[in-house]
Order: sequence, then C-alpha cells, then structure tokens
Amino acid sequence: MEGPKEFEFDALLNDGQAIHFRPIRPDDAAREQQFFERVGPESAYSRFFQVKADLGPEELRYFTTVDYDDRMALVAIHKDDMVAVGRYDVLPAKSDEKRKVAEVAFLVEDDFQGRGVGSHLLQHLTVYARLRGIDEFEAFVLADNRAMLRLFRNSGYKLTRQLEEGVYRVEFPIEHSLEAREAEWEHEKRAATASLMPILYPRSVAVIGASRDDRSIGGRLFRNLLMQDFAGPLYPVNPNAPFVHSVKAFPSINDIPGPIDLAFVVVPAPAVPEVLEDCGQKGTRGVVVISAGFGETGKDGASLEQIALGIARRHGMRMVGPNCMGLLNTDTKVSLNGQFGPTFPPNGNVAISSQSGALGLAILDQAAELNIGISTFVSLGNRADVSPNDLLLYWEDDPASDVIVLYVESFGNPRRFGRLARRVSRTKPIVVVKAGRSSSGVRAAASHTGSLASLDVAVDALFHQSGVIRAETLHELFDITVLLANQPFPAGRRVAVLSNAGGPAILAADALENLGLELPELSDTLQDRLAEHLPPAATAVNPVDMIASAGPDEYRSCMSLLLDSDEIDSVIAIFIPTSPEGTRGVVSAVRDAVQEHTSGKTVLGVLMGTNEDTEELTSSTAKVPVYSYPESAARALATAVQYQEWRSKPEGEYRHYPDIDRVSAEATLRDALARFGLSGGWLEPTEADRLLSLYGITTAQAAVVHSEDEAIEAAAEIGAPVAVKVVSASLVHKSDIGGVALDVSGNEAVSAAYRQVTAVADDADGALVQEFVASEVEVIVGMTEDPRFGPLILFGLGGIFVELMQDVSFRINPLTDADAREMLFEVRSAELLTGYRGSAGVDVDALQDLLLRVSALVENHPEVSELDLNPVKALTLGNGAIVVDARIRIRPLPGLFLPSRKDIPGRML
Ligand code: ADP
Ligand code: MG
Repeated sequence: MEGPKEFEFDALLNDGQAIHFRPIRPDDAAREQQFFERVGPESAYSRFFQVKADLGPEELRYFTTVDYDDRMALVAIHKDDMVAVGRYDVLPAKSDEKRKVAEVAFLVEDDFQGRGVGSHLLQHLTVYARLRGIDEFEAFVLADNRAMLRLFRNSGYKLTRQLEEGVYRVEFPIEHSLEAREAEWEHEKRAATASLMPILYPRSVAVIGASRDDRSIGGRLFRNLLMQDFAGPLYPVNPNAPFVHSVKAFPSINDIPGPIDLAFVVVPAPAVPEVLEDCGQKGTRGVVVISAGFGETGKDGASLEQIALGIARRHGMRMVGPNCMGLLNTDTKVSLNGQFGPTFPPNGNVAISSQSGALGLAILDQAAELNIGISTFVSLGNRADVSPNDLLLYWEDDPASDVIVLYVESFGNPRRFGRLARRVSRTKPIVVVKAGRSSSGVRAAASHTGSLASLDVAVDALFHQSGVIRAETLHELFDITVLLANQPFPAGRRVAVLSNAGGPAILAADALENLGLELPELSDTLQDRLAEHLPPAATAVNPVDMIASAGPDEYRSCMSLLLDSDEIDSVIAIFIPTSPEGTRGVVSAVRDAVQEHTSGKTVLGVLMGTNEDTEELTSSTAKVPVYSYPESAARALATAVQYQEWRSKPEGEYRHYPDIDRVSAEATLRDALARFGLSGGWLEPTEADRLLSLYGITTAQAAVVHSEDEAIEAAAEIGAPVAVKVVSASLVHKSDIGGVALDVSGNEAVSAAYRQVTAVADDADGALVQEFVASEVEVIVGMTEDPRFGPLILFGLGGIFVELMQDVSFRINPLTDADAREMLFEVRSAELLTGYRGSAGVDVDALQDLLLRVSALVENHPEVSELDLNPVKALTLGNGAIVVDARIRIRPLPGLFLPSRKDIPGRML
C-alpha cells in the first residue's frame, strides 16, 4: 500500500529549493535506517529522549508501517534519501473525551533544519488529520529544542504548553483558523519568492543554444541579453561555435568555469531533457525553456514535458515554459532582457505575465508605444512549473511593481488563483485579459442550479470575488493599465468634465453616467470662479464647456480650479484641436496645472483627432494618460472607481457556526451512500430535510405517507393548510405534471390531493405532506460543481420561474459574509427583497444566514455534488426563511480530495 496519491507532492523550501514529500512506505526501511544514522545522536535524542545509535528491525518495521488513518507519516525525499519525517499517532480516547487527539513528532536531518521542511510536514499532517476527523495534536518537545518549539509557535495554531521535567507538552486544536491559514500563506509566499529570485535577479546567465545567426531565436535572445548589458557574466553555450558575438562559447554548461543561476534553453525539444540534466548537475537554480514541441503538440509532447519537469524538480530548479518567449527585468540592477523580441520596454511599475508567446511580444511593443513602463515581464508558455500563481506571490511584495497584468488562456488551479488574487488585489490591482470563454462543457441540467450555471459564470465569479479587473479586449487592457499605473486611484464617483467642445463633453457625460459615475452640478461659487476665466457663451455647470476659443490659459486656470475643489474626485480634460499649433500649448497648460497640484485627484486626458504632442502629458511627472475617445476614458475611469470601491470595502469573514452538527451529517450521508453505490443519487426528501436541519437550516415540517389515511393523519399533526406532493425517484419537476397540491385543508381535500398527486407518476412512492408556507417572495439557493473551480453557489429570485427570469448570482464556494450579502443584492429584482410598491421587505439577514450555512455544508461535505433549494420561502422581517423543496445529490468521493478542491498552500501543482 502506497498511501493516498494526493499526499504525494513537491513543495518549496524557504530558500526556494524544491523537495518531494510523500506518505511513508514499508520499503522505506533502509532509507529510514540511513536517515537515522545520518541525523546524529543529538537530533535523535530530541526525538526519542534517549541516546540511540540505530533502530532495531522491529522498530524500523513499526515506523515504516502506517494505516493511513490513525497512524500516518509523511517523509521528505531529497535525491532518493529520506531527509525528514513527520508522523502522528492517534491516542487512545479517554472516556470523557469527545475529541480525537493524536501525538505528532518530527525528525529533520541537520542540513535541512531551519529551511521550512518541518512546517510543510506539520501543515500537511494537519490537513490530512482534519480529513480523518482528528481534532487536536499533542507533542512532546525537549525544553532546549528551540527549532521544534519555533516550528509550533510559527504555525499559527493556538498552543497550550506545559513544562514538566525539561519536556514541554504542546497541545493545539488543528481547526483551520485564520491565523493558521495566514501562517501558511506567509510561508508559501516566502518560498515562492525565494525560488523566483535566481530567475528574475540572476547573478550569472547561460544561453544554451546561443547562435551566431541573428535570424534564429537562440541568436536573437543572446544578442538581446548582450546588448541590454546584463549586469552579470553571460555565457553562450554552443558546441559548434567557439565564439558567439565575440563572446567565448562553451560546448556544455558544465564547461563554464563559474556558477550559473539561470539558463535559457533554446535547443530542439528532444534535446531538452539532456540539457536540463546538465543544468541540474551544474547547480543551476532556474531554467527558461524557450523550445517548443511539448504539451502544445499533443500526447508525445506532453510526456516529454513531464520528463523535463521531473528533471527540474529532482534538481530543485524552477522552470519557466516550455514553449515560451522568455522574460525580462528592467531593474537597472540586472537589466535582464531574456526574450527574443525586438522591444525592450521602458522601466516602470507594471508587471506582466503572458501565457501566449506571440501576444507577449505584441504587448511589449504596445506598452513601449503607449509609454507604459514595465518592471518585469514573464512569458509562461505551457506553465509546466512556474505559473501566474507563483508570480502573484512574487509580485505581491515586489516594490518595483504597482499594477499586475495577466494574459491567461486557462487556469491551472483556479481556486489557488482566487485565494491569492483576493489577497494581492487589496494592495495592487490585477488586470486580467482572459482569452476564450471558459468551456466547462454542457452540464446535465437535472437541477435548476445546474442549468443556470452558464459557461462563464465561474470565471466571472472568480474575478468578482477576488477583486480582479477583467479586460475584455487588449485595447481595454491598455486603457485601464495606463490609468492605474500612473494616476492615484479615484477617491469617489464624482467626475468633472472639462472640454473645448460640447459634443464630446456630452458623449463623456453620457458614458460616465451609464457606467454609474456621477457628474455633480458644480456649486455656484465654483461656477462663478470658472466663469471669470471664460467667455460668456461658455457653460460652467459640469460638463464645463469652455467653447472652441479656449486655449492654454483657459485650460490652465479651469484645471487649477477643478483640482482645488472638493466637489469632485476626478477630472477628464477633453481637447479637440481647433488650429494646428494649438495642441502643444494646451497640453503644456494641462500638464503644468496637474504638476502644481498634489490634490490626489485622478486626471485623464482626451485628445481627439490627433496622436501627436501627447508625450509631455504621459511621460512628464504629470503622468496623465491620454485617450482618443471620451468613452474609452470614461470606461477606464469607471473601472478604476470600481476597483477602489472593492478594495475599500471591509474584507468579508468566513462565519463559524458552532451549532452545526457535522458528525451526524456525515453519518446521514454515509448511510445514504451505502444505498446508492458508486454512481451516487438524490437524497430522499426526509433525508435532505434532516441534513439541512443539522446545518441549522429551517425546512417546512413534513412527513412521507403511503395512504390516504396516513395523509389525513399527517395533515392533522402538521395543521392545515398543507401541501401534498408526489414522492418519486424519477421526477425532477413535480409541479410540471400536477404532482403538487397546494393550500389543502380538510380531510376530504387531503385524500383527494393524495390520490391526485400519486397518480401522476408510475413510480410514485407515496406522498409528502408538508406545512403550507404562505409568502409572496420565493427564492432559490443552489450549488453546482464546476470540474475545476469547484462548487459554485447560486442565489436567485423566482421559484418555478427562475429559469425563465435568469435573474441569479453566482459565487465560488466558500462564501464570506460579504459575498453572501452581495449575492442577495446583485440580482436585478433585489428590490423585491427590500420591499417593492408597498410590499413589505423580507428577512434579508435570514437569507444571508441561509447562504452561509449552505456554503458550510458544501465545504464540509464534498460528497454533495448538487443541491437545489427551490423554492425557499422568504418571510417578512424577523421571521426567517423556510425551505419547502430540497433536492440534494451525493456521490462517493474518488479519494480524499476532488481535484477541484485541492489547494494546499505551498505545494506545487
Ligand atoms: P417542483 O419544484 O418539483 O415542481 P415544489 O415542491 O417546488 O415542486 O413545488 C412547486 C411550487 O409550489 C413551489 O415553487 C412553490 O411555489 C409551491 N410550494 C411548494 N411547496 C409549498 C409549501 N409547502 N408552501 C407553499 N408553497 C409551496
Ligand atoms: Mg421546486
């Protein structure tokens, strides 16, 4: 037995080296023995509290045999040697103890101490133990074993310590608290950043496949690095040429005298594994594989890619690519131009990563043209190893980057992206161009929720929840980026438009208002002061139309007045050249006005009908982005406002519900699964109600009956009026075919309803008699699973009309309280919730609570694959919400995790 595959993984150490982890196996006995010999008596003493020279065969067998349940051990493997082990053993339960407690212990080889191996072991053991229902860890640590005490202290778990005779007993609940999460994230970020440093700040570079032919990629790349004056030694590797561009070449990387941090690989695909092997032997820390002919070409290419990745991992190298166009870092400390395109962009604060190579070239070109300064640019190609997620971790704390731009075609691990982006977006805007609408495929539309989850909702939800700015086109990407990178984020929605022509001013005003921004009418005082500088025909209300005679003086004084005013948050200055020589003067005037004011206002320029003379505005210290159309400026500004609003909202929290009975819920699901077998199935109405009740969700009182008499009895118990519904395994929408009778009172009517509803389906298995809940507002709460994004939660209005109205909102699970709130108010008919045309509002807090409890249910029980609460009756304020129709589908899990739920910080995917 090899242990769960999902717990075999690579992870980065604090210094950026990769290392392999896996569950221990019986054939590890020899490795364990050698490991034990190597760690030396001191480390062994810390672990065993007695001096031991070696382990006996009995002990070896004991330590290498685990049951992957109550006894589990993970080992760290470096070059086929065991270098660390972490284990837990569940302790026999004390009689009065409901919690499951396990003892943990770690042993790390001296060379690997202080490098984060212990943290990885602890972190993954807690994930594993949690999945196994363990509540608490306990460890015994010698008082002078500082390293181990530090490991526990830095884990973020809430420790209790007791010192007895020189030994600490450390205990902590392994619940995934926010502090524990943050400790993991910090650890993850540190390791990822360290692993990318040799790639983005290499001290020495080799180009394998450097060519003398400037038309070849290897030739261009080498020349770019050389011409840009890379700050360290640069070595061409080429067995067929003694020199490349006057630089002495080496036949192989191993012939280079000094150490190499980074190697670019530009050789034919089949030669790549051998080259990587050489790089590994040389001790290279990072490789950028430019060569194509891998995963993008089909199955053979994909397996070659896996081979290449395996070599990189084995040697602890990080790999960019394959099939990429390289990278660059404009920091003058390195001046790294490691790509083969013709453009080296100006230095600046925008970080860019592109999945597509060709598009990357175009982006660089365009950026240079628009004067968008770039900090680092990384073309990721097939992303076999380094992914946008790694780069986010690096850029989060990179002082050189203020705006992050990503061009993505697909997400490797969207859940991780969401988690990281949500955090990074708080400090730096992330602008994403997502090519290709996601093709999650056609879902089986057995539930309302499933059929409503159109193709792209997952991506939209992901971006929305994480504050990511989505640009639909490259054009929009540049419009937004140039604004975010150069101007302060707008403090609010109020905009002033200043123009020398009425038409474009009105276009701008319309566009701004359509996008939800405001053009406040300026105060009389401000209008009067503006008028002092303007001819009588001008209007100063807002938009301020200075009319065609306006020149540099008018622009300068009016800009100054607007920038000084506290009535607005941003200014769009529009200019249509009226004479050939007029533009330059106006541009300088606007620039001067902006430079004189440190008002923190956002300023955008619109220069129509000419592209010339804008340089002074964009590249001067004024840094005013210039657009050709008022609508483009309006759209960019609206996006910046939205982003600023997102990041100033308080971060939502994951609510903790102590009343949830998870253990009984698990038992309920287990019983149902035993009945269904591998294919899974829909819970019976009473099971679904029970599951919901265990999560504190209110369901209508109900009973399943099998005869008219039983129906009458149940109705009497529940109290009139009732609803009577057919119970049938095959039916999806009962009311479509007359399987639901509503508002039924009196014995005769109940009998008749029973007869009527059970007659509609051949496989009718009795009926459900249910409390009738009168309420005007019906909502739907549901969950459907995206194969890669994991569970999506839906909220909508409409009950049986929900498909017709399509008025729904989606979020990726888990939901924060803020997510849930937003979902409620995002639907178009949200007014129905707060009260519309005299109707009273509903209990919105109860709906939010319901969403969060469903979120917890879905998060805790991955066996639930589909869920549809339709309708939920939303009652008036203070009266809650009641589920009257619940459909829940479950299926057995393939392993411990579903692929879509795998995101453990720090592991490389
Ligand atoms: P189905 O969705 O299979 O057609 P439902 O149980 O959702 O069946 O019933 C259909 C409609 O009947 C609901 O959308 C709701 O409007 C109404 N309804 C169902 N049960 C009740 C109830 N207990 N109280 C009030 N109205 C109900
Ligand atoms: Mg229904």
